[in-house]
Amino acid sequence: MATMKLENINKIYPSGVQAVFDFNIDIKDGEFIVLVGPSGCGKSTTLRMIAGLEEISSGLLTLDDKKINDLAPKDRDISMVFQNYALYAHMTVYHNMAFSLVLRKEKAEIIHERVMWAADILGLTPYLNRKPANLSGGQRQRVAVGRSIVRNPKVFLFDEPLSNLDAKLRGIMRKELKLLHTRLGSTMIYVTHDQIEALTLADRIVVMSQGYIQQIGSPTEIYTDPKNLFVANFIGTPPMNIFRTKLNDDLSFDLEGTVVDVSKVSIADNLVNFKNKEVVIGIRPEHVMIEADNGKNKGVPSVVTNYELLGASALVHFTIGGQKVISKVDERVVFKKGDKIVFNFSLDNTYFFDNETENRIYAINHDKGAQDESRD
Ligand code: ADP
Repeated sequence: MATMKLENINKIYPSGVQAVFDFNIDIKDGEFIVLVGPSGCGKSTTLRMIAGLEEISSGLLTLDDKKINDLAPKDRDISMVFQNYALYAHMTVYHNMAFSLVLRKEKAEIIHERVMWAADILGLTPYLNRKPANLSGGQRQRVAVGRSIVRNPKVFLFDEPLSNLDAKLRGIMRKELKLLHTRLGSTMIYVTHDQIEALTLADRIVVMSQGYIQQIGSPTEIYTDPKNLFVANFIGTPPMNIFRTKLNDDLSFDLEGTVVDVSKVSIADNLVNFKNKEVVIGIRPEHVMIEADNGKNKGVPSVVTNYELLGASALVHFTIGGQKVISKVDERVVFKKGDKIVFNFSLDNTYFFDNETENRIYAINHDKGAQDESRD
């Protein structure tokens, strides 16, 4: 059992920099939480406060309903896997994994049992007598995880554990970590700047920017229901296409001479408040539909500026009113630079944001639903 609660956690460094503002989350037993955001957004600081490596300036941190703000790291029953693995070069894999248990004066047979168990789970049994220098990057990474799991901690923390690996190995290790989580059923908190890692690993993602939580939700919620422009832009590759435009009096907007009527969209009741104001329109690349311009088909006309084949899909680049747009299409759809196209999109898959606050504009009853949820 390991539930963790962070309530109104703030971090102000002695230099005066506030790295984390009012961080709140209730983490369930066995949950895989991923903190994601650009460099400097406060994710490592948050993780280090949980580990006890950084003092909490204010707020309450509890593990299984017990306050742990002031406990030393070794007394927290929390274990952390670092980005640089921090392995002991002069020790074998076996002794690297056994070391923390030796320090805790565990019985020799228990140490042996735990190390052999971890080695088996992580596929390290054949390498127990090797030193770290004679291991591949992926194997070193597994040893670092092994050192953590032998202790059977209540909570595992991971600080960008895959960032030293090449892209292919990162993909493999991602799957292994996910399997490990399923197998151990432990509570895990994982920090990364890589949104793909967040989407593939997390039960819930915490998106951070400039020390603030922007949104907490399942990967699907974060991707399909972003609360603001930051989340919409940060999650998804390539990022969402963004158009800044003025909403006309009759609830329409102009896209390069093509008038788009939005008076029938589900959020029209709320869009009324944005008449004659700038709004931001967001469309994901997979929802940008393009076809060759045959002079008869409807849509906003443009010209292909670049075509990138990715494998199973391809990206078609063009511009609308000086704004770069990317469409993600099936790899069988082939265009080349200079091709004339028309562009269409479905309003059902279009996001609207308030240009001033950059918050998403929702249907009025959706907002009410969101408030009800937060009171639960
Ligand atoms: P992230 O992990 O998201 O890259 P960090 O938590 O490392 O971000 O940093 C958040 C902010 O706190 C940054 O502005 C960073 O410069 C600042 N910061 C981090 N560590 C310290 C420190 N020891 N002293 C002062 N400022 C720090």
